[in-house]
Amino acid sequence: MKEIESYLNIKQSIPEGITLVAVSKTRSIDEMMRLYEAGQRDFGENRVSELLEKKDKMPLDVRWHLIGHLQTNKVKFIAPFISLIHSIDSEKLLAEVNRQAQKQGRIITCLWQVFVATEDTKFGLLPEEIETIHCKETLDQYPNIRISGIMAMASLTNNADQIHKEFAKARAVFNQLKTNNLYPHKMEILSMGMSSDYKIAIEEGSTMLRIGSKLFE
Ligand SMILES: *Cc1c(COP(=O)(O)O)cnc(C)c1O
Repeated sequence: MKEIESYLNIKQSIPEGITLVAVSKTRSIDEMMRLYEAGQRDFGENRVSELLEKKDKMPLDVRWHLIGHLQTNKVKFIAPFISLIHSIDSEKLLAEVNRQAQKQGRIITCLWQVFVATEDTKFGLLPEEIETIHCKETLDQYPNIRISGIMAMASLTNNADQIHKEFAKARAVFNQLKTNNLYPHKMEILSMGMSSDYKIAIEEGSTMLRIGSKLFE
């Protein structure tokens, strides 16, 4: 039951109003069910195939989050049920999510993934690209999409100052979009913070943490 201890400790340390997404990639159904039984309902996966496999084995009231890079040809598999797509990094992907959402008669909630790290191996749109794409003319073409905020990953570094700066950049984009006030796209979610940097993310205004390894250690 060591797992549950880490989970409960982290859960308890998170301020009210911040959502915890349990990142369950590479974890077994048994491990996930222990968290589920302790009350966890939001689970995040970064690969569509793994997400689909697990969805069949987990209870129906789990809210599934797609947190990793999403290929357009995989959207159709998750469109019927996905709760939040954190990783919109192109208009092409947005258009495909809209198309598949329309087919399902659903509105799908999505976040722009902003690139704020120093490594160029990570996906995401630049802050200025998001400020351009997040406009009425573009979003009106995709009526089955609700953009609800921003997702960011900081660089993998021990330099806390740098992580602070990168998360602050993401928060600035989030706040900028808030002022645009593009109904019905309400900016409510700032998804940032993983096992190694979630405390910094909370200090920088995160409203949604994506924590994996530390929950299960
Ligand atoms: C794996 C992953 C996480 C969680 O990482 P941990 O270090 O295990 O907490 C968060 N976000 C994304 C996009 C991930 O791929």
